[in-house]
Amino acid sequence: MAKLSIKDLDLAGKRVFIRVDFNVPIRNGAITDDTRIRASLPTIRYALGEEAGSPTRQPRGGAHGAALVVLASHLGRPKGKPNPEFTLRPVADHLSKLLGRPVAFAADCIGAPARQAADEARKSSGNVVLLENLRFHPEEEKNDANFAAQLAELADLYVNDAFGSSHRAHASVDALPRRMDRPAAGFLMENEIKYLMGALASPARPFVAILGGAKVSDKIEVIENLIGRVDALAIGGAMAYTFLKSRGVAIGRSLVEDDKLDAARQIFAHAGVKLRLPVDHVVTPKIEPQASYATLPIPDPAIGDRIGVDIGPATVHDYTEVLRSAKTVVWNGPMGVFEVPPFDAGTSAIARAVADVKGTTIVGGGDSVSAVTHAGVADRITHISTGGGASLELLGGRTLPGVSALADK
Ligand code: AMP
Repeated sequence: MAKLSIKDLDLAGKRVFIRVDFNVPIRNGAITDDTRIRASLPTIRYALGEEAGSPTRQPRGGAHGAALVVLASHLGRPKGKPNPEFTLRPVADHLSKLLGRPVAFAADCIGAPARQAADEARKSSGNVVLLENLRFHPEEEKNDANFAAQLAELADLYVNDAFGSSHRAHASVDALPRRMDRPAAGFLMENEIKYLMGALASPARPFVAILGGAKVSDKIEVIENLIGRVDALAIGGAMAYTFLKSRGVAIGRSLVEDDKLDAARQIFAHAGVKLRLPVDHVVTPKIEPQASYATLPIPDPAIGDRIGVDIGPATVHDYTEVLRSAKTVVWNGPMGVFEVPPFDAGTSAIARAVADVKGTTIVGGGDSVSAVTHAGVADRITHISTGGGASLELLGGRTLPGVSALADK
């Protein structure tokens, strides 16, 4: 069921609460990566009536724009207490530069400080206020109704653009929208739902999934949910070793989850030929940049006590062949220890193969996102998901509380 969009709301003259994901890395007061802030700019600008190219473009709010945009986010894990280490104040300054207008900052997300900063924002003609870290109050993570009511006082309308935070039933994404009239999705949220749920519901075929990363346990649900929907599911990264060991293959000291061997066997039993595993790999005695390494076929007892750290060229060739005819691709998780060159070769080769696909390509999870950036192909991916955990839960067939709390179209 499609969700109500910010485009379905009449924002003119209203106070609009936008839950954003401004959980950005900050070092010594400086934002080291502002991707998440930039990701919500289209929604914020649209709310302000500043949509580029729109005939009704209003430089400073006005007839079509909201009277006030109230932005709220969490940052890090302050554990329910105010902590200067996790203040959103630097984000307000940075956002002000990106938007080219003043952004007021509320030293608390509720109560008098929030109301006063909101008033100040309206007077300053910036019309934007950023609230302090929601998680300075333990009620946020407890999905507390009273806390949600206090946030609700600040606005007339609610928009969720924080896909990456919508898999947890916290007050700002669950209790709050449930008490607001016509809670809607922002553009970032809308795109995430469109691509991720679209791939599950009606993928153009062949539909190929590539899964990698450290742990099978994080992705069992995803594998189980995808296996019945995809035409091929290729596995790489440390995850592959749990599957290989479950088939009796010698894996040396490769990372493995022994308590998931049965789960791996069961997945195999009903996956059949759809499930693809590496046919060769790169092995090393030590995971470090200058370590010696070799490429071995799988299986090969010569692995001894070495560690598998990347898929090998024959596997890259095999997975690239599978990708060549694909019309929909979902990729989550690196194919090896890609942070330590040269063990990034397999992951980079898969990133390029995904970018070459003539169809819809969806990449999710922080590490695969850095992998496509590292390989220089990010701009050739159809959709890069901003939410690692949230995208995995969605691909695993779960309903996200923050999505179900939004009104249906
Ligand atoms: P995840 O968060 O589950 O997507 O896992 C990402 C991490 O998996 C990265 O830090 C990789 O270094 C790690 N990883 C991938 N392949 C291997 C491997 N063969 N051995 C150890 N770690 C791996």
